[in-house]
Amino acid sequence: MLRWGRSPRRSSDERWPQERMEMRFCTAISCMDGRIQLPVIRYLQTRFHAKYVDLITEPGPSLILARQTDSGLVKSILARVHISVSNHHSVGIAVVGHHDCAGNPATKDEQVLHIRESVKFARQQYEKSEVIGLWVDENWEVFEIAESG
Ligand SMILES: [Zn+2]
Repeated sequence: MLRWGRSPRRSSDERWPQERMEMRFCTAISCMDGRIQLPVIRYLQTRFHAKYVDLITEPGPSLILARQTDSGLVKSILARVHISVSNHHSVGIAVVGHHDCAGNPATKDEQVLHIRESVKFARQQYEKSEVIGLWVDENWEVFEIAESG
């Protein structure tokens, strides 16, 4: 029997009381892969002190945004990000890639490059937003991708 549990309190929660997190949204441009959803949501709730994570999912979105060969799909992703930013006043945007991605079967190093390019592109579209890149590894642990190197 499954029950809804409370995630363990983290140190950052102390500085951000529940009521301050209550109304905040952030945005994930993420893969549709079911294995990464909960780890990504939990990571971003803490990272952006936001209770709600708007999920914009495609198979391998970093490849879509880095290559931009399908302009209709790029527009669709941006239209959805726009709703999250405009209507929910999202406080931050993450582009997410992960191990064993069916939509982007490239190596980790190549995927990290795609994520970086996607972050750059998203920053051009949303200059006022904080945009970060995330990598989810083979243990479904989430890591923030450094700016460079
Ligand atoms: Zn994937």
